[in-house]
Parts: sequence; structure tokens; C-alpha cells
Amino acid sequence: MPPRRDAEFIVSDGSEPEDDDLDEDYVASRAARARKGKGKGKELAGDSRKAQDQSYAWEASYKRSWDTVQEDEAGSLQAAVQDLVARSKRRRLLGGDAPIRRTIIRHMMLLMDLSTAMLDRDMRPSRFDLTLSYAREFVGEWFDQNPLGQMGVVGMRNGVGERIGEMSGNPQEVLKCFADKTKLEPAGEPSLQNSIEMARASMSHLPTHSSREILILFGSLTTVDPGNIHDTVDACLRDQIRISIVSLSAEMKICRDMCERTGGVFGVALNEGHYKDLLFELVPPPAEKSSASHLAAKAAANESELMQMGFPTRLPSTAPPSLCVCHSRLRSEGYICPRCNSKVCDVPTDCDICGLMIVSSPHLARSYHHLFPAPAYKAIVELDGSEAPTCHGCSQPFPTAARDRNLVPEEGMSPFGRYRCPKCKHDFDAECDMFVHDVLHVCPGCG
Ligand SMILES: [Zn+2]
Ligand SMILES: [Zn+2]
Ligand SMILES: [Zn+2]
Ligand SMILES: [Zn+2]
Repeated sequence: MPPRRDAEFIVSDGSEPEDDDLDEDYVASRAARARKGKGKGKELAGDSRKAQDQSYAWEASYKRSWDTVQEDEAGSLQAAVQDLVARSKRRRLLGGDAPIRRTIIRHMMLLMDLSTAMLDRDMRPSRFDLTLSYAREFVGEWFDQNPLGQMGVVGMRNGVGERIGEMSGNPQEVLKCFADKTKLEPAGEPSLQNSIEMARASMSHLPTHSSREILILFGSLTTVDPGNIHDTVDACLRDQIRISIVSLSAEMKICRDMCERTGGVFGVALNEGHYKDLLFELVPPPAEKSSASHLAAKAAANESELMQMGFPTRLPSTAPPSLCVCHSRLRSEGYICPRCNSKVCDVPTDCDICGLMIVSSPHLARSYHHLFPAPAYKAIVELDGSEAPTCHGCSQPFPTAARDRNLVPEEGMSPFGRYRCPKCKHDFDAECDMFVHDVLHVCPGCG
């Protein structure tokens, strides 16, 4: 429950239970409307009934979240809550199976609005605090899903772009950018152009096989730019930089144009939960932009672009200390580039001396699942009596009767809690379905 402003608050007398959150202005206007309605009612009885049904938009849209939750026979809410959670998770999993090409080596610059607009409290506790905590979660999830990716952070405040974190493949390093809140204190106006130019400059050296992405978390409705921002968008287009924006206030034409032209995603967050959804939709690698016919032609010719990668030698902490090429720091641990024998601190990275991409094999293996995802399981709506009694993943017995007839099959929920792999035809329960697609990324039934 958000903290209330006591001064504006009135205590409800119980006669109108739905009004306990409203201020006096609103109650007054409501009373006026009721009087008006009564006067009309004498002349146009039919119309007034209609008017009663069609309440004001802000009343109609006020939906109590607890109305959708229903108790089961034993009076427990646990099943209902589990259902809601499973439903929202499944919605995320229901993606298309169409063959697409994804870039697994990603480079992303995270542009954070640090203007005074971020101090707004329309999202609790404030846009700034919420953005910081979501950014932390986002970075963790992003590196988990894209172990070969690298991310940098730029802040937008006082009309300039401020480099907060260099491009790095180490999630701890990126998380450090958000650790000290006092260094990120919002101030002044944001500048889209300056910040995008800064991000573009730090990605200009990247090879063509990696994706270049800019993600902007934008709270302001204004931008202070030194020149024509359309030139900057043209330059991004030339450099194949994809810009995605999550706006916290409203849609700005320039923002949408920018995203559409560069092939990114634009979204306006409605509330805290929606903000998170929009952000986390950007975690999986984007499909490559080249046209379907182009891809088909390449596949037919069995043509693929090869790229060089090096697997480094890891130095133990007992090794004699030596200087690294990335920070010139004296350290024992590190990785030796297999081509030029220079020492770097972290993988994955591009060798500072010879430019070779250095990865560790677990990183490469963990990126693999995006290219060959586990098939999406189909929800079982009808039983024909020949099903296995237990889940193929965890051997828990399935319920024999449908739990909730109200579940709509369009949402991809099975009333029996059964989800079947289209390839191996084994049944899994909702928990295992989540685990297979979120964590394992390979179907245990298909082996
Ligand atoms: Zn170093
Ligand atoms: Zn090297
Ligand atoms: Zn199971
Ligand atoms: Zn399977």
C-alpha cells in the first residue's frame, strides 16, 4: 500500500465503500452528478437508466484486483494465486516457432534518464528509484540470457550524456554503476542527441557480426539537443544500431520514429508492473533484421559467416602477478589471449591488443539455446484417457479432474495442468514447463 497524504484524506462513513480513496473534490462532483441525474430521470427514464450503466471512464476502468481472485472449495486462495502467476508466466513463453536468425553476441548501451522528470512520484516509490531497481534486475537477467553480451551505461542529465559504465562483459561491473545512488542523483534536462551520440561512439569499433543496441529508459517529455536529432538517427541507421525506448510518461513522436526506423521497440509504461514487462521483453536476443528471402537464400546456399573466437587460458590466483592490458593493474588472476598472449581481466571480451574475441566455452554453450530453443509445450484441454498419470519431469501425479472450468484455452492454460511436448508427446506440469523453458532450455523427454 502506498503511503497516503494525510492532509487531503477524508474518512469514509461507510455508506459508500468504494469512495474510501477519493478526495473531497471528487465526492462533490459525484453528488452534483447524482442531482443532475435525478432531474433528468423524470423526463427521460430510459435515458437515465442508460446513463447509470455507462459510468464515467475513470470509474469504469477502476477494477479491483481482488475481484479476479476466487477461493477454492476449501476456502484457500493459494490455487488462485498460483494460477495467476502461472498464467502471466505462460503468456511470456507463448512465442512463435518461426525460424528466425538471432544475434547471440550482443552489445547494448543502456541510456538512463537522470533528469528531474525522474523525480516524479507517479510510480512508487519514485521513477528514479524504481528504474534503478529494475535496471539491476534487468542487468542480471540480461547477462544470464546473453552470456556473450556486453553492456555499457550512459546517464542523461544537465543536457549532456554522462558515461557511467564502460562496455563490459562482466555483470558485476555493470551492476556497480547502479550501486551508488548519490552519484546518479537526477538533475536538469536530458539530451537524447548527446547521449545517443556518446553511445554510438562507444560502439563504432564493434565488428559486424555482433548486434549494436541502445536501450533508453526515458522519463522526460523534453530533450535538449545541440543539433538536428534526425541526423543522429540517420547515423544510427548507417551503423546498424537498433534503438529501443521505454517511456515512463507518454509517447513522443521523435521517440517512436527513432525506434521504428532503427527496428527497435517502443513502449510506454502504464504502471510499475507494465514497466517491468516492457523492460524484460528486451532480454531475449532480437531477431536479425535482414529479410526472410535473404535468409532463405543464404540457407539454401549453405552459406554461413565464420568468425574467429579464442578460448583463453585461465591463470590461477597462485600465478605470479602481472599487468593486465585492460586496466594496467597488477593482478594474479586473469585470462591469457591464445593469439597474442596478452593478459585480460574478464571474459567475454575483445582482446585489447589483437582484437580477437575471447570467450569461455561455458559462455558459448549457454548462448546455444537461443538458436535451438525447446519447443513450446501445448496445453491439454481434453483428456482421452490414455495419458500418463504423472509428470514426465518430476513424477508428481496430475489432477484427474479439471480444476477450473473458467480458464480459457486461448490463454494457453490447461485445466488439467498438463502441457505436452509436440515432439516427444510427454506430459509435463506447469512447474516443469516453466523450468524447462526458463532454465534448462532443452526438453528432458526429447533427450
Ligand atoms: Zn584489467
Ligand atoms: Zn590478443
Ligand atoms: Zn513436473
Ligand atoms: Zn520433448
